[in-house]
Amino acid sequence: MSDYKFFEQVNKAFDKAGEHTKFDKGLLSQMKICNDVLHVTFPIEKDDGTIDVIEAWRVEHSHHKLPTKGGIRYSMTVNEDETMALAALMTYKCAVVDVPFGGAKGGIKIDKSKYSESELERITRRYTFELMKKDFIGPGIDVPAPDYGTSAKEMGWILDTFRQMSTDINAEGCVTGKPISMGGIRGRTEATGRGVYFGIYEACQNREDMKSLGLNPGLEGKTFVVQGLGNVGYHAANNMIQGGAKMVGVAEMDGSIYSEKGIDLDKLMQYKKENNGITGFEGSKDLENSSAVLEAECDILIPAALENQITEKNAPNVKAKIIGEAANGPTTSEAHRILKEKGALIIPDNYLNAGGVTVSYFEWLKNIQHVRFGRMGKRFEENSYKKILSVIETISDRKFTEKELGVLAKGGGEAELVDSGLEETMIIAYNEINEVRKTHNVDLRTAAFISAINKVGSIYNQMGIFP
Ligand code: GLU
Repeated sequence: MSDYKFFEQVNKAFDKAGEHTKFDKGLLSQMKICNDVLHVTFPIEKDDGTIDVIEAWRVEHSHHKLPTKGGIRYSMTVNEDETMALAALMTYKCAVVDVPFGGAKGGIKIDKSKYSESELERITRRYTFELMKKDFIGPGIDVPAPDYGTSAKEMGWILDTFRQMSTDINAEGCVTGKPISMGGIRGRTEATGRGVYFGIYEACQNREDMKSLGLNPGLEGKTFVVQGLGNVGYHAANNMIQGGAKMVGVAEMDGSIYSEKGIDLDKLMQYKKENNGITGFEGSKDLENSSAVLEAECDILIPAALENQITEKNAPNVKAKIIGEAANGPTTSEAHRILKEKGALIIPDNYLNAGGVTVSYFEWLKNIQHVRFGRMGKRFEENSYKKILSVIETISDRKFTEKELGVLAKGGGEAELVDSGLEETMIIAYNEINEVRKTHNVDLRTAAFISAINKVGSIYNQMGIFP
């Protein structure tokens, strides 16, 4: 178990921000605590007939808005403290990006590699059943999603289990990050990584910040290192490369690699699949261990794995000028202080990785509206564009080619609308926290907390506290 008490770390950051708000101390304490903590243990029968006892949690941090929302993680690091911290981060993250949910998080303490597919299915279904029995899941109650160690597949099992025992017309909205065929939404898998890219992109547009870091504005030509090539890390890296940045270092479970010339992401993914790791990848050098790459030469460091990766031990050696926190809680509070002293710009997790829950929100809306985004308007939009283009053709004597018409008269389908909604959300939120940063003369993490506390606190103030 980690030496860092994660929930305490989150609360330290909260307290620092709380001082910049007008709320009563009692109300701030109410905002900080976890409303409901569910700890369950249950048996599952393994394929060989033996029985394993499984330990799992679901924490609903704040009921100021319902449903509560947050992923479910499958990992041996899962414990009550971690789940509480992650649930709290969900509340603040949702508030920062104006996603109208309270925060929650779940976790099952398992080593996935020790279980077969059917055993994992049984564990997931039994966990869902436990959540149902205790009223910890439902489209208006608490809505899980993927997190570390889970994906669309597990979400599909959750929905299928829920649906078997519920007649709720909105049942599809009991979980997000589902396969598209089960009510999922286009763009959800890529969403967290894509949101990380939008956030870093926006931060790099800030001329003043870039100047004080000694960097040019924009992403073009900037070098980056990514820790973790899971769903979030892969999509963040892929988008960063498409946006003109160069990936020079990668860390995975088996070690880390570095190449000044740049690393080809697609080839590396293929290599990782074939070799079960990244070390030995041609054209790059192996570093001594997984965490060594965190200290490598680069402009942007993207921790996209687990919490407490940048600590007071390695922070003094971190060379990156921008830290893009794609993971939840990758930087301890002491490391944050050290990095700040060194002048680094930290783009905090409670803003930067909010793309996942943002698109989860779109998925949930799709589920409770029972209609796909774009279904009503896409063709209408396309026909309107075509009419405008035909007027242009008449008055300008210019005939558009079929290809041009295809591009110019394209209406927004689900994928385009989701992507544009995600971009809008990340950019608006960045500028909002940047304003708070200036007003209070604080860093971006504290600014994001201040923004979240103000939004959540104003709702608590309106609700009143009942005797
Ligand atoms: N697990 C993701 C997160 O930590 C997504 C949560 C969700 O979509 O509800 O933000």
